[in-house]
This record gives sequence, structure tokens and C-alpha cells, in this order.
Amino acid sequence: MSASDEASTQSPEADTRFDTVVVGAGVAGLVAARLLAAAGRTVVVVEARDRVGGRVSTERRDGRVTDLGASWVHGVNDSAVAAAADAFGMRTVEFTVGGYQPDSRPIAYYGPDGERLSDAEARGFAEDVHALDATLLGVVAESAPDASYRDVTEAALALQDWDAERVQRVREYLEHRSEEQYGAWIEDLAAHGLDDDAIDGDEVVFPDGYDVLPRRLAEGLDVRLEHVVKGVRWSADGVEVTAQGPMGEVVLHAGSVVVTVPVGVLQSEEFTIDPPLPEPVAGALSRLRMNAFEKVFLRFERRFWDEDVYAIRQQGQESRRWHSWYDLTTAHGSPTLLTFAAGPTAVEIRDWDESRVVESNLEQLRRLFGDRVEEPTEVHVTRWQDDPFSRGSYAYMTVGSTTDDDDALAIPVGGVLHLAGEATWTDDPATVTAAFHSGHRAAERVLGQSIPIETLWRDESAVPVVNPVR
Ligand SMILES: Cc1cc2nc3c(=O)[nH]c(=O)nc-3n(C[C@H](O)[C@H](O)[C@H](O)COP(=O)(O)OP(=O)(O)OC[C@H]3O[C@@H](n4cnc5c(N)ncnc54)[C@H](O)[C@@H]3O)c2cc1C
Repeated sequence: MSASDEASTQSPEADTRFDTVVVGAGVAGLVAARLLAAAGRTVVVVEARDRVGGRVSTERRDGRVTDLGASWVHGVNDSAVAAAADAFGMRTVEFTVGGYQPDSRPIAYYGPDGERLSDAEARGFAEDVHALDATLLGVVAESAPDASYRDVTEAALALQDWDAERVQRVREYLEHRSEEQYGAWIEDLAAHGLDDDAIDGDEVVFPDGYDVLPRRLAEGLDVRLEHVVKGVRWSADGVEVTAQGPMGEVVLHAGSVVVTVPVGVLQSEEFTIDPPLPEPVAGALSRLRMNAFEKVFLRFERRFWDEDVYAIRQQGQESRRWHSWYDLTTAHGSPTLLTFAAGPTAVEIRDWDESRVVESNLEQLRRLFGDRVEEPTEVHVTRWQDDPFSRGSYAYMTVGSTTDDDDALAIPVGGVLHLAGEATWTDDPATVTAAFHSGHRAAERVLGQSIPIETLWRDESAVPVVNPVR
């Protein structure tokens, strides 16, 4: 008898009562579910979309692989995500420019006049950024609770003995870093908003697609796709999760629930928690916000930019909208540039059609490369802001939030309700790594005991197949 035959002979009661319901089949939810299932618990994962992975989403078209959501592991040293990917046989390509570093790898800088900076000029600029960052650490540590990232960066700039031009180049860089790392305008991001931005070791991307990770994590689990959870009711006795599925409303009962939907969904009226989240969880949630951050992929017949650079960056007024293009040719196998519409630009282009986004990009690329720039043969512009199941790309700390807010969001509620997901992990929030660790922590809290994270990719993670993904 196949796993699905077996499932279909179960009583309706067996199909709606579990030890734990996990809401969301992104990385956090799948990690939690897999660890719980490996520990012998009955678990169901309820997922709104028709696929697993959430904000890890890979498009495969005509043999080409494009990661529309996460693409980087931001530092492979001691990384559980890198270890899992390795164990799952996922190929990687080194691409250490994902942290908006000024000089991690060769970067072609173009000055405000559109001319490429000499190596010495580019080095000088990067040294200025490093000098500013060294000052910034102390300024952020001393900052007022309601200080923005703009406030602290301006205070740090004021401490440098630079002329106006030099200050402006670094100021622009800091604005762009806030946008690219958090999808937020520098005045909207908390002073501490980039505290946990450290990268340990090389960064890598996955030429065969990042979604292999969630698909492997989902293997053998009972995942109910196309089930949109509307509400979670909780009490000391357990939880009731109501979802709208293809066949109508489904009510699931369990001893506990792990909710991994993005902050934007948690804050929406379409997702209710009853009774409402208590403090300090509710306060922490109110201070986090989904960002505006979209990817723009431009594929070309021919490469018109230099071969030996990882990225192209332009400075000056013209860089307000588009400032950085990343060369994905090695990972994609054909000449491809990736740029981000991040923060205000993402908000601005939300209503633009694809051709307007492309034209606006080409205008800037022609400033730098002239007539060598041809029309792209293929384009992809993501629309995470309009996706009802993400409502943005990831969460950022608004002015007034504290570095404790991420962890506070995960404080168990009533001993039965656990929030997990990228926004609930303080060390490296907004990443797959954060989602991964938050799922692990949620599973441990449900179990009331520690469980090695390596269980996920070792033999003992073999999950007794209840139902295949359906
Ligand atoms: C464009 C982009 C680029 C990024 N780049 C990187 C990167 O390079 N490196 C990196 O580490 N991170 C990156 N991230 C962030 C990373 O993708 C996320 O932090 C991580 O995938 C979040 O995982 P999660 O499990 O917390 O949430 P999700 O992946 O969002 O999982 C939550 C799940 O809940 C489901 N859901 C939502 N609402 C409901 C509902 N009502 N009922 C049922 N299910 C629901 C969703 O469909 C989703 O599957 C990027 C994200 C985006 C969008």
C-alpha cells in the first residue's frame, strides 16, 4: 500500500488531530516539522501556496534556474544552512558580494560622471567606508533608543575629517547599504538595524536552485498545500487551526502550533490569533515591518561589462534608483545581471510594468557602457510586495525597536503557541539562516528537550512517511 493509500484509509479524526500543527512550509516551518517528526511526533504542515519553500523560490524555465527569493548563504563558516546544503548534495558557486561589502571581491566602481574609478580611487573609497564603519560601531552603541540609522551614520560621518565630496560618496553608500541589506530607507531603519550583518567566510549561491533545500526538508512530511490558514485559537488545552483548502474549510486540532508566516501576514487582518498575542510578543511584532525589496534579472545575448568583476556600482545622483548590478554569469551560465529595487525604489516601481523597469535600468547602464548595451533577451522582475503570503521580502527593525524584539517575538505563548521564522531570530535576522535556527528552536521548545540540528540531514532524520506533499 502506498503512503497516500495508507493516508486515505485513516479516519477523518486521524487526519485532523496532531501533536503539532506547523503553519507555513518555508524553511522555518519545514525545519520545525522535520525535527518534530524525527522525534516521533505527529505533525502536519499547512501551507497556503501550491509549493513548499516560501521565500526560497526557484524558477526553472528552458533549462535556466533563477532564484526569485533568497540566493545567498551569507558566510559558510559554521553555517548550519551550508552544512545541510552540503549534506543534500547541493552545488555551490562562491559569490562573496551579497553583504553589500565595499571591496570583498573585484567591483567596478563608476564615479558620479559615469567614468570608471581607477583601482587606487576605488581602494581609497573602500578604505573610507571601513574607516566610517569602525567609527560607527561606537556611535551605534551609544545611540538613543529612538535613533535611526541615518542619525548614527551622520554622527559618524561628522567625526571624519573629510571634504564634502568624500562625505557624500560614503553617505550614498550607507543609504544604499540600508536599502540593499534591509529594503528600507535609511531614515526608517533603527540605529541597531544592521548590527547583525556580519559575514563569516565566503558567501555562496546555488546554481541548481536554493529550493532544493526546502524540498529535501519536506520529504516524507505531511504537507497540506493550498491551505490558507485564517485563524489560530489557543488555550492551555491546545490549539485549533482553521484553514481554507481546495475542498473547503478544514479545522485541525493539536497540542501545540508553530506559526511561521511572515510578519506582514501576522500583522494583517486576514490572519487572526485568538486570544490576541500578549506582551512582550505583541509589542515586538508592532515594531517590525515588512520591507520593499525586489529582484530584477536582466539576461543578455552578450556580456558588455568587464569579465573580471563580481559587481558594477555607480556613484552620485544618478545612483539614486539603480546603483548596483551583480554579474550572475558564472552561476547562470549565460550573461546575466541582477539588480535590486530596494526600499524607496521598490515602492516607486511597484506599479511600473516590466518594460519601464528595464528601460530605466538600461538608461543607467548606457551611461556607463554606451552603445554596447543591448536589449535584454529575458527579464524577470519579482513582486514580493504584492504577494499575499509574504507581503514584502523580509522584516526590518523600525525606529524605536530593540535588538531583543526578534527573539521576543518567539517567546512561547501559553505554552502551546510558538512563533518562528526569519523575523524571530536576533543573531542574523532576515535570512534563511535565521529561519532555519528559529525552526530548530521552536521544535526544541515543543519537545521540551534539545535536539541536535544535524538530525535534519543525518540518517535519524528519516521521517516516517505519513503523506507525501499534496
Ligand atoms: C527577494 C528576496 C531575496 C532574499 N535574499 C536572501 C539571501 O540572499 N539570503 C538569505 O539568507 N535570505 C534571503 N532572503 C530572505 C529569506 O528568503 C527569508 O528570510 C526566509 O526564506 C524566510 O523563511 P521563513 O520560513 O521564515 O518564511 P517563509 O519562507 O515566508 O515561510 C512562511 C510560509 O508561510 C506560508 N504562509 C503565509 N501565509 C499563510 C497562511 N495564511 N496560511 C498558510 N501558510 C501561509 C507562506 O506561503 C510560506 O511558505 C531573501 C528574501 C527575498 C524575498
